[in-house]
Amino acid sequence: MPLHQPQGEPDRRLALNPFFGEADPVGGMTEAPPKHRLPAGPLPPSSAYQLVHDELMLDGNSRLNLATFVTTWMEPQAGVLMGECRDKNMIDKDEYPRTAELERRCVAMLADLWNAPDPAAAVGCSTTGSSEACMLAGMALKRRWARRHRDRYPAAARPNLVMGVNVQVCWEKFCTFWEVEARLVPMEGDRFHLDPQAAAELCDENTIGVVAVLGSTFDGSYEPVAEVCAALDALQERTGIDVPVHVDGASGAMVAPFIDEDLVWDFRLPRVSSINTSGHKYGLVYPGVGWALWRSPAELPEELVFRVNYLGGDMPTFALNFSRPGAQVVAQYYTFLRLGRAGYRAVQQTTRDVARGLAEHIEALGDFRLLTRGDELPVFAFTTAPEVRNFDVFDVSRRLRERGWLVPAYTFPANRQDLSVLRVVCRNGFSTDLADLLVEDLGRLMPELRAQPGPLTQDKEAATAFHH
Ligand SMILES: *Cc1c(COP(=O)(O)O)cnc(C)c1O
Repeated sequence: MPLHQPQGEPDRRLALNPFFGEADPVGGMTEAPPKHRLPAGPLPPSSAYQLVHDELMLDGNSRLNLATFVTTWMEPQAGVLMGECRDKNMIDKDEYPRTAELERRCVAMLADLWNAPDPAAAVGCSTTGSSEACMLAGMALKRRWARRHRDRYPAAARPNLVMGVNVQVCWEKFCTFWEVEARLVPMEGDRFHLDPQAAAELCDENTIGVVAVLGSTFDGSYEPVAEVCAALDALQERTGIDVPVHVDGASGAMVAPFIDEDLVWDFRLPRVSSINTSGHKYGLVYPGVGWALWRSPAELPEELVFRVNYLGGDMPTFALNFSRPGAQVVAQYYTFLRLGRAGYRAVQQTTRDVARGLAEHIEALGDFRLLTRGDELPVFAFTTAPEVRNFDVFDVSRRLRERGWLVPAYTFPANRQDLSVLRVVCRNGFSTDLADLLVEDLGRLMPELRAQPGPLTQDKEAATAFHH
């Protein structure tokens, strides 16, 4: 999202449909309202509605958007509940004790789902999304490191955080905002995410933690959390340095518990001290809700937890925001209640089946090489086959857009900047029928792409957008 600046056209006006004036003899508009300045007076609600509604008509069709991880469809009942809660402020825990209670139940359900050794002892909170959750988790890691190094902090040492170069941008934000050195393990050959050994080698006594991503945004692969923990166990045995692990499960923490039950990535690993997820990704809730959980109160330094009494009550909170909508938390509770484990399993399995089937169909076209196959996150990345010279992934992305499909193309980070890929994110609501249509459209484009004299897309950045 750009940081907006006024566009320097203060006198531009919204186009006025003569109907708006006719239809409302009392408040009817005769003068078009300005675009970039607050209008001098009020408009009739019907006209204001129509103006805003019409402008939004040009937003994309979310069902054809294969770039985003974020939920684009919920049941009407969820929408009704969210409407009923739109005036509820999550921070007013005393005013809205039932909303606060539903949040508490969601945390308890997640602690159980992620196998906290003592779910009653786990602590957690809702957030606006994984980004805020990661900031909170990172702050807890930094504060725990500072406590361990109380004698030297803050003057002598600079804290660092170890992670793969493929981490989501929120971790770069965390490191910049909180002045922590980002130690990034580069990609290497066909390894597109964190390597346990390389991670352990980057750690020292000023490492506040290692971030392992369950579900890389670049290719949908799971990072080997258990192996990362094992490498850090070995490091501790060798050097005495004890480095906690945070699992960024923005997507995978709501996928793996249901369809990869044998994969041990969560609080079953003693070194995993905190986990986050995005309720609005595979948690199946509209944006924005996320969750952050710590194994026990010992992982969450109490000086980060605030109690305010000026809303009445004395509920402890850990958050960056103060006011925040309660509707998404209620919708999360609704979805947990509505689906249960079996329901989530069915939804995620169906989505994975669609992803795997689509990946196979694309592979069968013969022009592409799959990097991942949709068998971890229901997400896969693919690139052109080595012998393909006539077109590149940016051409494919641009041409698919003509048919209404948003499939982003982007270049990988260090050390694989030579590699550009397309990525498909399958979500609930993207059905086999839609996937078949995508393959048909792609198949129909192939003869033209193959007949190109060479890659045609000049402005690769503009051709496509990489959506985390
Ligand atoms: C999406 C994502 C984030 C950021 O999550 P938001 O909920 O969009 O703030 C962080 N980490 C990973 C791995 C992600 O996929």
